[in-house]
Amino acid sequence: MPIRERIDNLKSQIPIHANLIAVSKTRTLEEIEEAYLTGMRDFGENKVQELVDKYDKFHKDVKWHFIGHLQRNKVKYIVGKVFLIHSLDNIQLLNEIEKKFASVGETANVLIQINIGRDENKSGILIEALEELISACEKCKNVKVLGLMTVIPKGDESSNRKYFRKMKEIFEDLKTKNFKNISMKYLSMGMSGDYKIALEEGANVIRIGEGIFGKRNYNNI
Ligand SMILES: *Cc1c(COP(=O)(O)O)cnc(C)c1O
Repeated sequence: MPIRERIDNLKSQIPIHANLIAVSKTRTLEEIEEAYLTGMRDFGENKVQELVDKYDKFHKDVKWHFIGHLQRNKVKYIVGKVFLIHSLDNIQLLNEIEKKFASVGETANVLIQINIGRDENKSGILIEALEELISACEKCKNVKVLGLMTVIPKGDESSNRKYFRKMKEIFEDLKTKNFKNISMKYLSMGMSGDYKIALEEGANVIRIGEGIFGKRNYNNI
């Protein structure tokens, strides 16, 4: 199915308040252009180098989302290029983001990534460490937390639903609090295989790669 058709299809299924991010990792500029021509402006990348390359070569009105694990020593490369960092999950990284964005007088918009499945192989903060990270965010001047992100463990529908529901509970709970620098605007969860369940459970940002561009081939990059 052509990229345009896949995007139209997805858009017809998702509520107006939900945001669709086209996950363009490993995709060529030609493929991304096809999505761009349908009106897509939000693209997600999980490698710093790849985001920077694409930022430099592609249309400047694109909003680049960083959705992968972010190493501290690479924060400097995405300053001024990233629209939203979905993967804040520790205080050292927060401090580096604060420092590098402050140095050029910019504000970083971030989501806190939660390891809701307590999966040792996944990034994201464990819920018991969330409070401490939030306190650290409250002290920042150049970081704004706009919501939460998660990648859930592989599982069946009821397992997916359980994790998405837990995320939504945390999201709603934080929404009632008045933390400085923290607002709960975006709940980023759901990928090609599980976005429908994610939307049913309250996601308002979904990140779709293969469901837009077809199967990924990691040899492309
Ligand atoms: C690759 C990736 C996606 C998209 O996955 P698909 O299964 O291709 O939709 C979403 N979120 C993150 C964090 C990813 O790394």
